[in-house]
Amino acid sequence: MRDTENPGRFDLHTHSVYSDGTTTPEEIAREAAAAGLDGFALTDHDTTAGWDDARSAAATHRVDFLPGIELTTHTGNRSAHLLAYGPDPANLALREELTLLRDSRVHRARAMADRLSVDFTIDWDPIFAVAGRSVGRPHLADALVAGGYAGDRSAAFTTILSPGGPYYLPIYALDTLEAIRLVRAAGGLPVLAHPAAHRQRTPFSDREIARLTHAGLWGIELDHPENLVDWLPALRESAARHGLIVTGASDYHGAGKPNRLGERHSSGTLVEQIRAQVATPR
Ligand code: AMP
Ligand code: ZN
Ligand code: FE
Ligand code: FE
Repeated sequence: MRDTENPGRFDLHTHSVYSDGTTTPEEIAREAAAAGLDGFALTDHDTTAGWDDARSAAATHRVDFLPGIELTTHTGNRSAHLLAYGPDPANLALREELTLLRDSRVHRARAMADRLSVDFTIDWDPIFAVAGRSVGRPHLADALVAGGYAGDRSAAFTTILSPGGPYYLPIYALDTLEAIRLVRAAGGLPVLAHPAAHRQRTPFSDREIARLTHAGLWGIELDHPENLVDWLPALRESAARHGLIVTGASDYHGAGKPNRLGERHSSGTLVEQIRAQVATPR
């Protein structure tokens, strides 16, 4: 048991090279230890492929590991990322949806690469040659950077790859309510990721939060570097009204994003709460 003086610090949202982070799970574990974190959750987009690496690296570096996924979902035409902590990776329905999400990612990235190839001379094959990786716009961005067409990943996102631009194609996503039920049925805890991120055009309404909670949403990531502070008071009220657990995390992507590992975090008490309720607690 941790005492109240030392409640622990866990970064509950990180990405590795198994999706669009630039560091391996091993490096995340090492950096977590160096940063004085007690542990981290690996939450790669639509995959559990990094869990084994992360688990053994965490043991090596003496930090705690919590397995997670960040699911690509939508609520109406609003994109919504759903964190899932501790689901059973062998759950058939979950595995089928993850496979579908990753396959759709490949098709969409290939179609975007085809469009980009009209104007940019780039060999896209290496992007698709990495086995077991959840591919996305960040990998197209990295190729544009390598080709000298953008300064860095973030610049590529705001220019060439932006949703309003000629090369953009929408990403396949699960309905958020269905994703919440799927995660619950697989023994995981669903947490709404960065609900006030600036890329959302409007914040989630209380009604939407109520509906998600009714479907089984457990928590909401209100402490996240990309949440707009102006939108937080209303979301805090909704979270309190509907009994949602508030989490904090960095959304670390290595060198792919400015977010720093551990810059936002959750307590050990919260992690124990999660572990007590999930199919795969570590
Ligand atoms: P996609 O879902 O493929 O359209 O790509 C959006 C994803 O890119 C989001 O999940 C972000 O987390 C991720 N991403 C990674 N690096 C960056 C960056 N530098 N700027 C914006 N988004 C980024
Ligand atoms: Zn990402
Ligand atoms: Fe996200
Ligand atoms: Fe993320």
